[in-house]
Amino acid sequence: MKIDPVHKCPYCGYVYQVVFGENTFSNLFSDPRGRVAVHSIIQVCPHIVCGKTEVSVEAGLPPAAQKGRSEAERAKARYDLPNSFFSSRLLPSEVSGKREFNVSDVPETVFRDYDEACRLLRTSPCASATYARRCLQAMVRKKFKLKPGKFQNEIKALSSMNGVIRQEVVDALEYVRKMGRFRAMPDDDVKVLVDVSYDEAQQTIDVIEALMFDWFIAPAERDKRVGALKAIIESKKQ
Ligand SMILES: [Zn+2]
Repeated sequence: MKIDPVHKCPYCGYVYQVVFGENTFSNLFSDPRGRVAVHSIIQVCPHIVCGKTEVSVEAGLPPAAQKGRSEAERAKARYDLPNSFFSSRLLPSEVSGKREFNVSDVPETVFRDYDEACRLLRTSPCASATYARRCLQAMVRKKFKLKPGKFQNEIKALSSMNGVIRQEVVDALEYVRKMGRFRAMPDDDVKVLVDVSYDEAQQTIDVIEALMFDWFIAPAERDKRVGALKAIIESKKQ
């Protein structure tokens, strides 16, 4: 994976200049026959308050330029692996690098599927979109207390209820539903996932995050504020 000269800390958002050996450390090692190489990168946020560590790994074919280099030279590898077949950020996990969620306000089953969708995003956008769809269906059921059925019918039921959700939300639900669905193969019993690009899978996660905030997190925060107000009023009465 390419290490840009300027990097933004995923924890605190601080933007800093990458300095190898100071805040960025990378290493590349490969098997002796040169079939596969693993590139690992550690970045430590130089912000005085943050200082958190980011860890990424990538696996791919060893770069030709690495041949014949010493171990010490290889340790300073700073470039993309050609034909990389795996790339992932281990820390913070894809999910904790996103918007700060107050997880306690999100139903557990919903959060688990959301978490899985985020983790799968880089390695399998199709699988990610499937989890995103399942997550959204669970959200709809929790939020609107619908009788479980086909997701398509649940969305129809919601859109026919006057003023319950806006048309844009219905469209967003439909988008995620279609992205994560299975497609039957002709003349076969087998069902396969529809093709989903990284960007499309990312968009399904964006939809989920927006709705998760609207449906679960914002109302819970409002309730907490109202509770705090009540407590103030009660204390004045005494
Ligand atoms: Zn930071």
